[in-house]
Amino acid sequence: MIVVAIDGPAGAGKSTIAKALALKLGLRYLDTGAMYRAVTFAAINAEINLTDQDLVADLTRKSEMVLTNDAVFINGLDATTAIRGVQVTSAVSAVAMNSQVRTELRERQRQWVTDHKGGVVEGRDIGSVVFPDATLKVYLTASPLVRAQRRVAQSGGNVDEIAQGIAARDAQDSSRSDSPLVQTSDAAIIDTSDRSIEDVVSQLLKLVLAKS
Ligand code: C5P
Repeated sequence: MIVVAIDGPAGAGKSTIAKALALKLGLRYLDTGAMYRAVTFAAINAEINLTDQDLVADLTRKSEMVLTNDAVFINGLDATTAIRGVQVTSAVSAVAMNSQVRTELRERQRQWVTDHKGGVVEGRDIGSVVFPDATLKVYLTASPLVRAQRRVAQSGGNVDEIAQGIAARDAQDSSRSDSPLVQTSDAAIIDTSDRSIEDVVSQLLKLVLAKS
């Protein structure tokens, strides 16, 4: 079973590259960030205080989530657009610090890979915690300016403000005690700042084929 773990900070190119690689390998793609975002969306909708760890965890365990390649549903609601909005984006790292939420989502991610007989999985802790035995571990990164510019190109906004938001999220994701964003020593570290998507995807394809 082939499992490719792609981790890295916001705007490093994970989603675009993971989707393209999955297509080339004939595997499914799982965006684990969308799962944390969907829980955040559901908690905001239910007007739950996000700092109430037990309540948010309880909601997570009870929630039904469906992720396709281009849509996210939680408890029957289409959350595809809302999970990319400012409200969810600014709150998601706080929800992702909740260990009970992480335990539940981690189990669902492992089950998803078993059900789909492998996959390309992107997130923050995929190579370090969720799939420590992944076929290939990749840590994608890019300069803070390039990452902010990519987000602005995708969804608009002011580069300085977006850069600040990304830096705040990176800091929270890297400093939390449960499965922080880290580069593992066995990951291929790739800076995507000055490289095309095709170029990175073809490098990763070679790396996966060499290992499988
Ligand atoms: O990848 P994306 O930017 O959509 O992820 C949103 C947030 O979800 C991250 O900032 C992080 O707080 C959380 N996350 C996580 N672990 C993952 C994937 C995402 O903590 N595996």
